[in-house]
Amino acid sequence: MNPNEPVPADPILEVHGLSVGFEGFDGYADVVDDVDLSVGRGEVVTIVGETGCGKSVTTEAITGILNQPPAHVSGTVRFDGTDLATLTETERAELNGDRISTVFQDPMSSLNPVFTIGEQLTDTAQFGGERSTGLLSYVRRRHSRTDRKQARERVLDLLREVQMPDPESVMESYPTELSGGMCQRALIAQALLNEPDLLIADELGTALDVTVHDQILALLSEIIRDRDMSILMITHNLGVARQLSDRIYIMYGGRIVETGTTHEIFERPKHPYTQGLLASIPQLSGDAMAGGIDGSVPEYVDPPAGCRFHPRCPYADEACRSDRPPFETVGDDAGVECVRYAPDDAGPVPTVAETRRRLSADPETISTDGGTGDQS
Ligand code: SF4
Repeated sequence: MNPNEPVPADPILEVHGLSVGFEGFDGYADVVDDVDLSVGRGEVVTIVGETGCGKSVTTEAITGILNQPPAHVSGTVRFDGTDLATLTETERAELNGDRISTVFQDPMSSLNPVFTIGEQLTDTAQFGGERSTGLLSYVRRRHSRTDRKQARERVLDLLREVQMPDPESVMESYPTELSGGMCQRALIAQALLNEPDLLIADELGTALDVTVHDQILALLSEIIRDRDMSILMITHNLGVARQLSDRIYIMYGGRIVETGTTHEIFERPKHPYTQGLLASIPQLSGDAMAGGIDGSVPEYVDPPAGCRFHPRCPYADEACRSDRPPFETVGDDAGVECVRYAPDDAGPVPTVAETRRRLSADPETISTDGGTGDQS
């Protein structure tokens, strides 16, 4: 658990020391390592990082769907003050269907292909979040005209709210008869049916083409504006995070390496990985290829010792290769895991301009005394 992690005043979700690993043929993959994060009531928080950084595994562990081998999950997840480890499986399922909703990243494979959209969503409206619905009760209520009609009306209202074209005919369609964008809208409607307190959105719209992706983000933006709901989003797209989030966690190699308000992350990025991500955004002027981060995310069976970013970091030194850097708070609402922010620090604090220069330079030409370029 990280005592330096800045937390919101009224958190609905608190995660401490979350670690997730998987037994595999190649050995034990240490995919999420000692993650702390929190989401305040009504707050929109985003986890940002490259594909393969452990973002989806983190949210899957939070929702409890990894609670069996070959996954190994440790740490504490509290929702609205309750430690989720104290809940029975049924209570956990009830919570996930009622107060926590998740929209997964692939809309085409997240809906059941053998039931119509209407059947699936109406079932969610009628039975979602119930502790246990016996078979007889299910059949009786499933065929109760009043119950079913009310649930169906609610689904239609939600489909209209998510701007589904021709919702009446969509209700009678199977997922394979719909476009990816329509499936994504149906999933968002399904996630909102029970008015959850926390919505987890995993790379929403990423699997869709760019115009539909933009429409889905505009829809999410409206949902955030109109509903008093906490949202935990994950994305690899810094632009999406900037557009929608109150606060951001930057994740690399299964660890949170930086956190701060959206303004802080974009105006004063501290970690060289965050700076590298920002430097990777193509500029309209200048060399389009300059500033990318060489290399790739680490192998989790045998991750790099010390700071997991050190094989790609232009500032890495011996200390970085041996010891995990401490997580330090910077100001009131930001924190970073990098030796350059430790009290007994290793060198000058990097800047975006200096990081961009180093990322695009030949490593042989870079001295190890740190950069002092302009903060930009
Ligand atoms: Fe780079 Fe070292 Fe900081 Fe890691 S701890 S980001 S390797 S300077």
